[in-house]
Amino acid sequence: YPPERIRNFSIIAHIDHGKSTLADRLLELTGVISKTGKNKQVLDKLKVERERGITVKAQSASMFYEHMGQKYLMNLIDTPGHVDFSYEVSRSLAACQGTILLVDAAQGIQAQTVANFYLAFGEGLEVIPMLNKVDLQTAEPARAAKQIESAFEIDAGGLLHMSAKTGLGVDQVLPAVIEKIPPPGGSSGRPFKALLFDTWYDRYQGVVCLMAVKDGAIRKGTRIVSNHSKTKYEVAEVGIMYPEPTPTTSLQAGQVGYIVCNMKSIAEAHVGDTFYRDKEPVEALPGFVPAKSMVFAGVFPIDADEFDRLDESIQKLTLNDSSVSVHKETSAALGQGWRLGFLGTLHMDVFRQRLEEEYDANVLITAPTVPYQIKYRDGSTHFIRTPADFPSAISMQDAVVATMEPFVSATVIFPEQYMGQMFELCTTHRGEIQNHTFIDESRVMLKCRLPTAEVVTDFFDKLKSKSQGFASFDYEEAGYGESDLVKMEVLLNGESVDALAAVMHRSSVVTTGRDMARRLKEVIRRQLFDIIIQTAANGKIVARETVKQLRKNVTAKCYGGDISRKMKLLNKQKEGKKRMKKFGKVELPQEAFLSVMTSK
Ligand code: GDP
Ligand code: MG
Repeated sequence: YPPERIRNFSIIAHIDHGKSTLADRLLELTGVISKTGKNKQVLDKLKVERERGITVKAQSASMFYEHMGQKYLMNLIDTPGHVDFSYEVSRSLAACQGTILLVDAAQGIQAQTVANFYLAFGEGLEVIPMLNKVDLQTAEPARAAKQIESAFEIDAGGLLHMSAKTGLGVDQVLPAVIEKIPPPGGSSGRPFKALLFDTWYDRYQGVVCLMAVKDGAIRKGTRIVSNHSKTKYEVAEVGIMYPEPTPTTSLQAGQVGYIVCNMKSIAEAHVGDTFYRDKEPVEALPGFVPAKSMVFAGVFPIDADEFDRLDESIQKLTLNDSSVSVHKETSAALGQGWRLGFLGTLHMDVFRQRLEEEYDANVLITAPTVPYQIKYRDGSTHFIRTPADFPSAISMQDAVVATMEPFVSATVIFPEQYMGQMFELCTTHRGEIQNHTFIDESRVMLKCRLPTAEVVTDFFDKLKSKSQGFASFDYEEAGYGESDLVKMEVLLNGESVDALAAVMHRSSVVTTGRDMARRLKEVIRRQLFDIIIQTAANGKIVARETVKQLRKNVTAKCYGGDISRKMKLLNKQKEGKKRMKKFGKVELPQEAFLSVMTSK
């Protein structure tokens, strides 16, 4: 397949607008998977994706398709829609020349439609908008088309209407891709040059690299060099995703495929790296801007003996998710662990679940915090990734000139009747409204600046409930601003637990301090002694609660009685122990760490 006969494209859209379902139909149409009528989001391969019904990893799949008597090799990349995984989208776009922007004809343009459009547009990709779900009674294709025209200033005249569910119109998709999306540039005659844009760890093959070959060709035995490290490798296998890895004799200019070479450690695979043939160096490709962590959380093994194994699991998993940043951390309460940076709290939660499901890990995660900044009198600036590093009350007075917090620039799209609630939501979360415009007669797009800390807790849930599900939301980082920050500490029987500390805006100290104490009381189990819970800000106690001591043995009433009930109780207690950490004499469940997340 010469480059003219190759098309590399992705599908982007707001969450749930039907990207993965369209991918199913296209794979069926081209015979990659059989038409059983049972295929449901086959490219959502991870367990976490199947359970949650969302795509978190971009996945590639190759197809062969005949159009006007010519055979084409089509490489499709299905992408996630949620804002927390936009780094996956932007990396995938580097391997494509164009993209299908799918819009649910019943919902119209949503916040991630806008965000993903600009991501693709900024990369200079050809964007083909298409309307999906036209089978729905509530579909309003004409209205959605008008929104596309007014929001993106593109002609939505010959817009393709389809239903990825029923298959209506799906046969028009690949012809449109072939005609509208340009073939990859590059030439097989030039020296080999490829972009590494995704990696994963395979139990049998080790590190597998997904590459977009820009020039030249590669086959088994080719000696290649990493531009990043200048390390040389011999290629052991090349192939395409069909949709599982399928070996081929070579990968040529314009193709997207996988390469297995003798990478010894996981650290050798750098997403964004350029590879070339040994002794034929080329100019490096631009690569990727590293993902900026929006939230940080401490991750600790429940059982300290599992530290080494967990360390390896985290390395392997971050190989498949290069947007996670990793630093070692030691906590007085929890011992040795890591401080991981994520793109949002959903990202954090998915990472935890993948660690547990794919690597059988048993971890405890602390409440997420945003990276604060402290400016000192001597002119230096320090990042605070963990509340434990926040300056003490004394140094706040003596040495600190300013405390700063990160902000995001948010886009909210909603029907006009929710205007009041949406404005109020932004202002109660310390947001500053910048402007609002109508994208059609009754749909509003609102732009506002919000502290990241407000966004990463329950902002999204509130947005959904206050708009009865009709508002959608997306954001991008927007720098730092000065803010009056305070550290809240939690004391258990008089001792401060570093892993429970939190940094917050002064305006929420009283409510949050009381709330934290109350929530902790709910989740800390009664033990053989009273547990006094106190929250304190700037050394002043804000709230106090007591967990009364336990009097009876839980199994006491079963003695001589029902044995199976006793076993059940004991097992239940053992289950609970799995996610417990001992601090001094007090046992803390996972919920204790998450319950300190500020939310009113
Ligand atoms: P993604 O998040 O964009 O990948 O969306 P999915 O492909 O996972 O689809 C989300 C939901 O919409 C699933 O329940 C699909 O069955 C459903 N869906 C997708 N396409 C259509 C369609 O054309 N019509 C209808 N009625 N439902 C669809
Ligand atoms: Mg999907």
